Amino acid sequence: MSDNKNTPGAENPEHFTGLHLGHIKKSAAGIPAIVESIKQVVGEAGAVRGLKALNHMNQKGGFDCPSCAWPDPDDDRSTLGEYCENGAKAVAEEATLKKLTPEFFAENSVQDLAALTDYEIGRKGRIAQPMFLPHGGTHYQPITWDDAFHKIGATLNKLSSPNEAIFYTSGRTSNEAAFLYQLFVRAYGTNNLPDCSNMCHESSGVALGESLGIGKGSVKLEDFYEAEVIIILGQNPGTNHPRMLTALQKAKANGARIIAVNPLPETGLMGFNNPQSVKGLLGMDIHLTDIFLPVIINGDMALLKAVEYYLWQHEQREPGKVFDRNFIEHNTVDFDAFINDLQQQNPEQLAKACGISLPQIREVADLLKDKTKIIACWAMGLTQHVNAVDTIKEIVNLLLLKGSIGKPGAGTCPVRGHSNVQGDRTMGIFEKPSEQFLDSIAANFHFTPPNKHGYDVVEAIKAMHGGKASVFIAMGGNFLSATPDTLYTAAALRKCLLTVHVSTKLNRSHLVHGHEALILPCLGRSDKDLVNGEEQIVSCENSMGVVQLSKGVLHPVSDQLLSEPVIVCRLAKATLGNRSPINWDNYLQHYDQIREDIERTIPGFGDYNKRLRDPGGFYLPNCNRDGAFNTTSKKAHFNIAPIHTIHLHEDDLLMMTIRSHDQFNTTIYGLNDRYRGIYKERRVILMNQGDMDRRNLKQGDVVDIYNHHGGVERVAHKFIVVPYPIPPTCAATYFPETNVLVPVNNVAKKSNTPVSKAVIISVKKVSGE
Ligand code: SF4
Repeated sequence: MSDNKNTPGAENPEHFTGLHLGHIKKSAAGIPAIVESIKQVVGEAGAVRGLKALNHMNQKGGFDCPSCAWPDPDDDRSTLGEYCENGAKAVAEEATLKKLTPEFFAENSVQDLAALTDYEIGRKGRIAQPMFLPHGGTHYQPITWDDAFHKIGATLNKLSSPNEAIFYTSGRTSNEAAFLYQLFVRAYGTNNLPDCSNMCHESSGVALGESLGIGKGSVKLEDFYEAEVIIILGQNPGTNHPRMLTALQKAKANGARIIAVNPLPETGLMGFNNPQSVKGLLGMDIHLTDIFLPVIINGDMALLKAVEYYLWQHEQREPGKVFDRNFIEHNTVDFDAFINDLQQQNPEQLAKACGISLPQIREVADLLKDKTKIIACWAMGLTQHVNAVDTIKEIVNLLLLKGSIGKPGAGTCPVRGHSNVQGDRTMGIFEKPSEQFLDSIAANFHFTPPNKHGYDVVEAIKAMHGGKASVFIAMGGNFLSATPDTLYTAAALRKCLLTVHVSTKLNRSHLVHGHEALILPCLGRSDKDLVNGEEQIVSCENSMGVVQLSKGVLHPVSDQLLSEPVIVCRLAKATLGNRSPINWDNYLQHYDQIREDIERTIPGFGDYNKRLRDPGGFYLPNCNRDGAFNTTSKKAHFNIAPIHTIHLHEDDLLMMTIRSHDQFNTTIYGLNDRYRGIYKERRVILMNQGDMDRRNLKQGDVVDIYNHHGGVERVAHKFIVVPYPIPPTCAATYFPETNVLVPVNNVAKKSNTPVSKAVIISVKKVSGE
């Protein structure tokens, strides 16, 4: 048996790879980004194949970047390339010519592969045929597609309830595959459809849905060019959404002021060398941020309240000139109660709670007081906290005071991580589907979908751990590395009868498996998808609600790969057989048939097949953009919530997990974090120098990191201490290495998102290192 539970480091290898520290960079992108992009793509795929992929990525009629969800320009796109360094790295990984044959799996046991780091595993190449790990087996072995589907269908049909199976989705899954997947899962009989959104912007969806009536952001890319002020909170665009810097550059050129709120002075927030411009190529930086506020971890809400407090003081001096009274009166509820609460606030205490001085807070209020076009952007730095929903509602409060929603140059902008995470939710990948959605499924497909809510990610992990669920199927992603409490989650997966992953590349979740395990290799975004000899297109929805086609251009690395829509159809046929209410063969003829059924089922997709083929795609309806609020009251809601206090003992620190520049979500492209000046090592903990001094630690010391939430000791072994400009009592470590410290039971209120950005830790120097 592949006894990886006894393999040291199977979930969290503890190898050091050779730390080298450089300087924190002053600006992002520029020539180094171009060099890195070309190096990665040509190195993995060769010059012809690699450059062909780059030339088609994010172009109209080309394929959608498989990395983040930042939108492409509606108008003409740059012939120099509409991609960033991270997009290039993502496509390099997908376009690689390295492939994992049966010989590779015969030579490498699961146990041996599990001892590698995530970076080493990811470098192995594309999976070239379906692979199966039998119960007690030590090595994956080839299996035919028919046998694989038969095995999954038979196992699902043996369960005593459909609710014992979990169907996870990663945000890369196309609209077409996601729609079919949720349809199959509901026809099978469960709403157990957790997705990566549960771990990232679920808090945004809940907050915006309750406050504004739509769980998506309201701005378009063009709004950036009209904005007077852009506030960026808890986000590191230079690494996680690099082309956002181009939008910020254009906004600056048009006169916008930028306020950045973040514990770390991220390079991409500070300066930008646009590689698409002559100045950028000459290394001439553009200074982006006008006011940088190094807030302490989870201090954002206190900061927002303090800014609102001073805005209210300005409003009292100049009634009607600071708040948009007309907007507030006609479009909002609970304004008076909100102001009553604001009056009770103590600005000194708020300043202490956020770690920002009163003069700096007043500077922000002074800047905002006569502005009306304000955009607020945010990401995981806000969403992965206990009080995330209330913090995001506080952003909404600020925008409502200024009437900054539903007009050009203003609004909400939760910046989504994975390229189609927003589209998958639109397609019905949701464990808590609305009645309206289920009614539409019932009317169009003539079966009664289950209405009992399913498991989200945290609930799914607990269900597997507690024996309530025993089959885990993942449409993409790397569940184990993406989720909290790594050892707990690993134990949960091992208890399953069967774990199945639809994947392009090998990852850790294939190696920490159920009694039996399957890897089903699928086409990537850049791969050509031929059905009946005709090239198929799929579609994705970006962070701003644009649905756009994606058409691969590369010959697949193996003729054994299937597309995700085909995999879902064949899985559905093998599982549902004669009892299927849906004609899956219809979808296998042409993907236009899938889109016709999406159009019939989901509002906003009228004339889908035609509009998708319009250059640049089309916008989905967004009530906020039109100045409407689809809440029960049909008005926007001010929210009143207390500051959330995190109590730290004397030895404690508050840790947030972060991504390096050589990384996208769980995919590790390299060992460098160029902008932060950290090279060749990921097992580091960034600490404030004062906190190091108090603990008698110096640069290069090695510590174990502990968390004791819920009385359980969690340990991340052997991390190298690096002094860094981070506020006192705060620390930062890379995800996923320290997910082992993120308690599965510490979640955001209402959204149930794991709290990965505020983990209480203590550090202990490792003797003898
Ligand atoms: S900004 Fe995001 S979507 Fe655009 S190329 Fe970079 S990684 Fe891809």
